[in-house]
Amino acid sequence: MFIFYIGCCFASFLMVIAQRVPAGEDFLYSRSRCHHCQQKLAFYELLPLISAVLLRFRCRTCRQKIPLIYFGAEFIYGCLFFLITTQQVGPTKIAYLIWLTMAFLLSLTDLFYWTVEPKILYPFGFLLWMILFLCAWQLYFSTLIFLLLISLIVYFFLQDYFGFGDVLLLLFWGPWFSLHQLFILLFVASLSGLILSAILTLIRKKTIHHLPFVPFLSLGLFYLLFF
Ligand SMILES: [Zn+2]
Repeated sequence: MFIFYIGCCFASFLMVIAQRVPAGEDFLYSRSRCHHCQQKLAFYELLPLISAVLLRFRCRTCRQKIPLIYFGAEFIYGCLFFLITTQQVGPTKIAYLIWLTMAFLLSLTDLFYWTVEPKILYPFGFLLWMILFLCAWQLYFSTLIFLLLISLIVYFFLQDYFGFGDVLLLLFWGPWFSLHQLFILLFVASLSGLILSAILTLIRKKTIHHLPFVPFLSLGLFYLLFF
């Protein structure tokens, strides 16, 4: 339980990064605020999960609803952190943690801003490659070449249909998997994306044309790493 909660605390900080870095704001020194009334949050409003439940998912000052995504993201990252730090995944534990933290952060920037934030993508991407090299994780040149070709095609011909950020992200993640595994990742991502957009279409009774894709790619990554 303690380890899970440490993960939730990390998640809370990661959310601040995902929200402020794309907007060019400082994420280290300025205090968190309510998004509606801009009131600075007191220390007891900053406790992951607990504050939201105690405040019944509403701001203390303006009583506006606190978006459920905060609660959900803290809970999900807490579970991931618990899973990685308590299960034996050998010397690649740090690599897993960095990989899934990168996936978590970029899923959030995609949800908040529809962007795969370069200021997060590149530092995390290079760090990930360095650690995977150190862990002697196998690099698949066939996948790398395949992904380079795909990125050229998307860059020159298909930018209107595919987000180039998603392709760049796959260039960082993909070469560490065989082509077969890469197709599984894409299959899990597309299938879960389709299922969710079908459900949302049914609930909202209007067609969903566009969903941020990084959360689904992250789900595919999670599947490959743990199953
Ligand atoms: Zn407020």
